[in-house]
Amino acid sequence: MANTFERIRFVLVETSHPGNVGSTARAMKTMGFSDLVLVNPRDSDALGHSEAIALASGAADVLAAARIVPTLDEALAGCNFSVALSARPREFSPPLFEPRQMAEHLAADTSLRTALVFGSERYGLSNEQVSKCSALVSVPANPDYSSLNLSQAVQVLAYECRMAALGDIRSDSTIGFRGERASAEQVEGMFTHLEKALVEIDFLDADNPKKLMPRLRRLFARAQLETEEVNILRGIATQLISKRQRIRRD
Ligand code: SAH
Repeated sequence: MANTFERIRFVLVETSHPGNVGSTARAMKTMGFSDLVLVNPRDSDALGHSEAIALASGAADVLAAARIVPTLDEALAGCNFSVALSARPREFSPPLFEPRQMAEHLAADTSLRTALVFGSERYGLSNEQVSKCSALVSVPANPDYSSLNLSQAVQVLAYECRMAALGDIRSDSTIGFRGERASAEQVEGMFTHLEKALVEIDFLDADNPKKLMPRLRRLFARAQLETEEVNILRGIATQLISKRQRIRRD
């Protein structure tokens, strides 16, 4: 069974400054983490950039092993839990936690393969990117100036995850029945299918969708879906679509 350090990936979305990528690698390695993925960095050679290498210092190996992918979906591949990091609360966000609370959850539940997702220096994460995640974490900083430097936000999370991992002697979260947690790909596939069914039965107006899908994403993020449950929801969607098409034909 993978330990906490192997179960947590750090994802940087559309980072502008290669120096921050290097500092992130250092922040991660000092706390025992090594899985770094960049989504579409502004500098396509961010990992080989001289500032990144200089600021990574003794963590050049983390940079060398890091990957660059074009989309957030690809960065989440292989994970079954994702956490958006944002200084700003959002109206339709998944449930909100503090870093310590989240770190304890990630350390205690050994079935989790987690991506911690950080936004760009200038824009942070978009609402759409946040809504792809299972939870939102905000560092409770000074309300007058709550925006941390990107790599410093990584450091805070990596530290809390390390403390939780070292202090973790509980296995209580695995007591009782628990199915396999749905992967990010399974959950995305389910949403696409469900949306199609809701349009088919005229519950969702494709030209004027309002906030239905973000609300449903929030609801299902709270539920922490298992694979079996995703399959049930897809089964319902399949039936809705086929019954509707039969009614149309008859
Ligand atoms: N100007 C951006 C902030 C970017 S800071 C904005 O207004 O959203 C870069 C990234 O660091 C953020 O996207 C977030 O992932 C992380 N970060 C910065 N401060 C944070 C805080 N207080 N809590 C959680 N994450 C934070």
